[in-house]
Amino acid sequence: MTDGRLLIFDMDGVLVDVTESYRQTICETVKLFTGSGISNVEIQALKNRGGSNNDWDLTLEIVESRGVHPTKQEVIDAFQQIYLGVNCDGLISRERWLVRNGLFDSLARRYGFAMFTGRERWEAEFTLGKFAPGVLFDPIIGMEDVKLEKPDPEGLLKIVERRRPAQVFYVGDVMDDCRAAKAANVQFIGVVGAENPLQGELEAIFRREGAVAVIPNVNELESVLP
Ligand SMILES: [Mg+2]
Repeated sequence: MTDGRLLIFDMDGVLVDVTESYRQTICETVKLFTGSGISNVEIQALKNRGGSNNDWDLTLEIVESRGVHPTKQEVIDAFQQIYLGVNCDGLISRERWLVRNGLFDSLARRYGFAMFTGRERWEAEFTLGKFAPGVLFDPIIGMEDVKLEKPDPEGLLKIVERRRPAQVFYVGDVMDDCRAAKAANVQFIGVVGAENPLQGELEAIFRREGAVAVIPNVNELESVLP
């Protein structure tokens, strides 16, 4: 049974602005362990390089590069404390929804939706419940649903196997999304906003890696979709 056309979304940087949440959490966690923070440009450069989709691993890598060697669990605990706070009043509360009203209604006439995110699934569901409670993403594949995280294509392949779409796109914002799509033989649409400190570089990389389109934000999706 085929499902027609399917749009698979990455969450952070595509549907949600995480500059003030995840990115700021990386900065504050690094500062906690090393005494000094890290700029958004430096974080973006590491994201562009690829192999840095998991923010816990990336934070540990940055801390270690500065000669401090906590355990991974210590980094995760500190990171989650800053991000979640108490009852989700931490930096998670500073997330900003990027999708204009009506976009999903319009897309839903021609596409089904699914999600492949590096977040834990409950964190993704928490944010969707807050900003887009009526929109169905089936399935939502989170961190705990795959053995190998992006850039491994496992999550995309799971979604494709389940939905069996005739045509499928993955909408993502970092190098690991692009590589996962390529490895899964899924068409990639890159989102590179003007606020991205390395906008030109990332757009060029996406095009070189075979992105079918690069758009400045998710609200431009309909202009590049068949
Ligand atoms: Mg992302």
